[in-house]
Amino acid sequence: MATVLLVEDDHVVRDALLRSLTDLGHTVHATGTALDALRRVAAEIPDLIVLDLGLPDLDGADALRMLRGITDTPIIIATARDDEVEIVRLLRAGADDYMVKPFSSAHLEARVATVLRRTGRASRVEPEVIDTGSLRVDPGERQAYLDGTALALTRKEFDLLAYLAARPGRVVSRRELLEEVWRQPSIGEDQTIDVHLYWLRRKLGESAAEPRFLHTVRGVGIRFAAPA
Ligand code: CA
Repeated sequence: MATVLLVEDDHVVRDALLRSLTDLGHTVHATGTALDALRRVAAEIPDLIVLDLGLPDLDGADALRMLRGITDTPIIIATARDDEVEIVRLLRAGADDYMVKPFSSAHLEARVATVLRRTGRASRVEPEVIDTGSLRVDPGERQAYLDGTALALTRKEFDLLAYLAARPGRVVSRRELLEEVWRQPSIGEDQTIDVHLYWLRRKLGESAAEPRFLHTVRGVGIRFAAPA
């Protein structure tokens, strides 16, 4: 079970969610403002944050950005706005999932379990370090090293590299990357992958034309292979 920070200013909604999450066995801390949430996260990072977008002190997107500035912990957005463009923007800004209000406690339970499983927070077992000699990817530390030098990767660039490096030799499809790394299978925008791949390759000192680790298999996907 996990430690959950619930950020919601509506007392009725907050009490209901608090009860649901507590019934599931989670340890829940609740607050009604974004600034208090930031203070709490700075003091102790929870396993999961459930963030209401309509808070009295900060715009939800700003709150998300500020939280992302201090932690990689999974964030589920709870929003009253069923606006696809806004939701896509928030997922790109680092939200792990979203729920449109009102939602049932069963729905919340399913989403929380999925996010915790996907982000490996449920078990607290750290995924294995991948070391090819020249490239070292440490999922626990969320850091990658190329020839001993730490790479400055964004969150998604790291997720992309870690996902591919954990599956050496296998061609991973774009669809799988969207589902497992971006967690948004319905969006189906290849460009998102291309942009991240471009920057990741630059940081790895390679290009699509001259790959070192990330090999494009045209029409199929990407295959990770360590240079011989
Ligand atoms: Ca609200």
